[in-house]
Amino acid sequence: RDLCYENNSKQAYEKHLKERNGYQYIFRFPPEPNGYLHLGHAKALRTNFYSAEKLGGICYLRYDDTNPEKEKLDYIESIKDNVLWFGFKPYNITYSSDYFQEIYECAIKLINKGLAYACELSQEQMAELRQNKQASPYRNRSIEDNLRIFEDMKQGKYKENEVCMRMKIDYQHPNPTMRDPVMYRVKYHPHPKTGKKWCIYPMYDFTHCLCDSFENITHSLCTLEFEIRRDLYYWILDSLDLYKPVVWEYSRLNVSNSVLSKRKLLTLINNKVVDGWDDPRLLTINALRRRGVRPEAISAFVDLVNVARRGNENIIDQKLLDYCIRQDLENISPRTMAILEPIKLKIINFDDFNVKQVKVPLFPKEPNRGFRELNISSELLVDASDVRESEPNKKQEEIQQDLQKKNSKKIDKNTFIGIYPGSQISLKYFGVIEVLSVNLQDKIVKCKLISTEEKDRREALGQIHWINLSEAVQCQVKVYNDLFTVADPNQFDNILDAVNPNSLEEYNNAYINKDLIQLSQQYKTFQFERVGYFTLDQYLDASENKIRFNRTVSLKDRVNR
Ligand code: ATP
Ligand code: MG
Ligand code: MG
Repeated sequence: RDLCYENNSKQAYEKHLKERNGYQYIFRFPPEPNGYLHLGHAKALRTNFYSAEKLGGICYLRYDDTNPEKEKLDYIESIKDNVLWFGFKPYNITYSSDYFQEIYECAIKLINKGLAYACELSQEQMAELRQNKQASPYRNRSIEDNLRIFEDMKQGKYKENEVCMRMKIDYQHPNPTMRDPVMYRVKYHPHPKTGKKWCIYPMYDFTHCLCDSFENITHSLCTLEFEIRRDLYYWILDSLDLYKPVVWEYSRLNVSNSVLSKRKLLTLINNKVVDGWDDPRLLTINALRRRGVRPEAISAFVDLVNVARRGNENIIDQKLLDYCIRQDLENISPRTMAILEPIKLKIINFDDFNVKQVKVPLFPKEPNRGFRELNISSELLVDASDVRESEPNKKQEEIQQDLQKKNSKKIDKNTFIGIYPGSQISLKYFGVIEVLSVNLQDKIVKCKLISTEEKDRREALGQIHWINLSEAVQCQVKVYNDLFTVADPNQFDNILDAVNPNSLEEYNNAYINKDLIQLSQQYKTFQFERVGYFTLDQYLDASENKIRFNRTVSLKDRVNR
């Protein structure tokens, strides 16, 4: 069934049919290039491009560039780059500004029909009259006067805000967007595409429906807050007898403990809460990329939340995103070990054992996917979080006894299992040690190796990760936590009041095994065993001369380390 037909005059519809190259479904993704794309746009992207793909249709990437002072070429480039990164292929890349001449001609038509007028009220006065459903004193200007003033606007004879063109609809309309909305205004800021060619610019509402119509869009999808603008969308196209697409609203994506709107992202950037649009704590596409998130994970997430059209503006738990990221990374990220806060571990009887190397599977569940051979020596590094100077409340023997009594293998998650004087613990893939002494001041643990048998390793209460000191390479590791302490920062008048002061943890003296640098040619993300998924930061500037890893996602639901 062709939804478009019932909306349109026969003539407009036939023209549309002729011009649409036989495509049944034509969508568009219409970002304004006033910022970088974020996770909300990923939903919009997928809703449009993927719908077109599934239905055998096409989708335009159309830049909605009608606010020259906010828009930049840099944003334009980045948006295209992001769209391609998702694997979507725009049928064509267009700009609202491509149609400035046609849009201008439509404005002239409306003026000639007596459906638009030049208004000299200030923005405040206009807002007040619209609010009170009162007419502008300029409403009944003659067509000739309106044409002349519009021409003068175009010629640059007016200052900004001195005059604007408004549509003449119904100043008492119950829908406030219909109360003689602004159609054109004067702006002298050069436009990123058209430079100084124009000094009058059409408003979003006037532009959007016209471009949709010119491009023969069959389904114009937008977020629910535009529902109120639908009357105006159709009024404009009706008044000009142009073909009308089907407008369809879907719910706007909100994700817990974060913000998505570009305006709010800019607030965070301008106040230096984050380092820029690609700071990995943000949910911009570039930030997610930099964190090591793949488009597959984002698409899976969007598909999970995309089911409901009319869901109220609910907030999607960021845990769902994390879950999708983990699912995606699980089978493509080799297991490796990294130490964020090093403590030296000396094995005093290392030479009594004849183990100089261990084989570590890249994917323990799939040994056929390869091994790494790690050299071992008498000095290793372990992580401070696994080390205590004194015995914890519960000794290992007691834990063992408890487990036997309960006949289970489950250890209470608050119980500390690790290195302390007298403890026995297994070093992953290597052997079981008995701890002799711990000196946290000097960051040294002394221990005795008691077995290198796999069976014994498995039977030990816990296994910890390590790095061979002689093969350790220093690096920086950044762990990102929630940027906001509350699920819905949008409820705050000032979102800065809800910022989590501990959103970034930096480990400047972290270590990885040197073979990781080689491995990172082949693999983009790694699981640092027991720590999380990590990726090499691609955005290091050359002067930094450092290796940096960003945490992509924690291994379990987000808790601060
Ligand atoms: P922002 O408030 O972030 O500036 P916007 O709606 O002004 O968002 P546009 O660049 O105009 O951003 O958006 C392009 C498309 O993406 C529009 O169709 C818009 O409805 C959609 N979109 C933007 N944010 C979201 C979101 N959070 N969830 C779903 N779709 C979104
Ligand atoms: Mg917009
Ligand atoms: Mg916007």
